[in-house]
Amino acid sequence: MAQIRSRRVDPELTRRQLLAMGSAGLATGVVSPSKASAAKVVTKARILIAGAGAAGLTVANRLAARLEGARITLLDSRKEHYYQPGYTLVAAGLKSIDYPVSSTREWVPSGVNWVDEAVTEFKPDARRVVTSAGKTLDYDFLVVATGLDLDYSAIEGMTTDLIGREGIGSVYAGPEAAHKTWQQMSQFTDKGGAGLFQRPATEMKCAGAPLKYAFITDDYARRKSTRQKIKLTYAAHGNALFGVPIVSEKVRMLFAERSIDVAYNHVLKAIDPGRRIATFETPQGMAEIGYDFINVVPPMRAPAAVRKSALAWQSGPFAADGWVEADKATLRHTRFANVFTIGDVAGVPKGKTAASVKWQAPVVVEHIVADVADRKSDAAYNGYTSCPLITRIGRAMLVEFDYDNNLVPSFPGIIAPLEELWITWLMKEIALKPTYLAMLRGRA
Ligand SMILES: Cc1cc2nc3c(=O)[nH]c(=O)nc-3n(C[C@H](O)[C@H](O)[C@H](O)COP(=O)(O)OP(=O)(O)OC[C@H]3O[C@@H](n4cnc5c(N)ncnc54)[C@H](O)[C@@H]3O)c2cc1C
Repeated sequence: MAQIRSRRVDPELTRRQLLAMGSAGLATGVVSPSKASAAKVVTKARILIAGAGAAGLTVANRLAARLEGARITLLDSRKEHYYQPGYTLVAAGLKSIDYPVSSTREWVPSGVNWVDEAVTEFKPDARRVVTSAGKTLDYDFLVVATGLDLDYSAIEGMTTDLIGREGIGSVYAGPEAAHKTWQQMSQFTDKGGAGLFQRPATEMKCAGAPLKYAFITDDYARRKSTRQKIKLTYAAHGNALFGVPIVSEKVRMLFAERSIDVAYNHVLKAIDPGRRIATFETPQGMAEIGYDFINVVPPMRAPAAVRKSALAWQSGPFAADGWVEADKATLRHTRFANVFTIGDVAGVPKGKTAASVKWQAPVVVEHIVADVADRKSDAAYNGYTSCPLITRIGRAMLVEFDYDNNLVPSFPGIIAPLEELWITWLMKEIALKPTYLAMLRGRA
């Protein structure tokens, strides 16, 4: 098994510089919360936050810092907190299985009540939720931050038990799955054969992650000198590799340069682990592709409690998978004015990254504080989404864009957005996690 180590950090790059870079992914975006926030606003408002992941914890910490006397409750049955951008590094064999894991309790601010139960029913007309333990909780404001569900069952023949066996990996399913994916990929790049990568046709979090893993696999094979025994194919769900045209073109060029084949308009529908065959829906009918290693990225949907509630979009492109209906600038629900949404579950055109949460949270918090204080806010989220797109071990491109597909570089003139840079790699490998954790505390 090849041990690949990233280069040592340039001693001239101080910790502060690195943190500033890490915050690039988590650092820009046009937000205009007013500065009228120094003094705490006194209120007895009951604020429920459904979901204590990246978004829920960030909002809880920011609200706790802005409000005095508010009764803030976080609802989430999960005791562990997962730093999901770390999964790719685990699946690249560069970080240990426990690197992404911390405890939810660690990030819950004092004065905020964490109820370790899930929401099973949202009743926005009654301003109430029901929990998995059957409790009903009433609220004045609700923040829906439940993240999304990975729907492995939508791929016939696929279950999460298969991850780590029969050449099947899946970076998304959690730290253990990411580690097992690394083991499968490592064996595959030793032996050779056909490697298959894909993404679902649904909305998804971090749309760069499936691409990154194709690049990482290619890089390992080259470092092991087995690349000539390996065929790599990326099955794109549509006729592009990424939603932002200029990024898609850059990835297409890099894939061509690295001999990674692309099969466009291929949506994974079934997998046969015994025969190692993946079946795709294509405009020409069903097509089978054989593999020795596959990174399965399943369809993604809003969690059932959200999807089945009145909070979900009732029509339009976000209705089928039940994403929360919201104004894309204010993140306020368009039918229930006391409800906001944030993070992966939000039914807005972009924004399913932790970096997006960084720029959504101040907007949501600013509007809640303004409502409580009986004033108006013009805080707006511009769709900022970013991801350091790893193109090989030690190199990444910083991809940052907004709702209009404009590239919005955090460091114009310093970090070129579509260049494969070592400095961008360092952001992903070293600086992003501390910045993310500072974000959870409401400090980044
Ligand atoms: C492989 C991978 C790589 C990534 N890379 C990057 C990257 O490089 N950069 C980047 O910025 N982002 C990246 N991301 C995306 C980022 O991790 C997510 O966008 C971010 O975690 C979203 O935060 P969230 O709070 O919406 O969801 P989560 O962090 O998933 O939290 C959702 C929480 O809601 C809880 N919940 C679910 N249902 C309910 C319910 N009914 N009631 C109560 N609670 C509920 C869950 O238990 C969970 O704790 C990556 C993600 C993955 C998987």
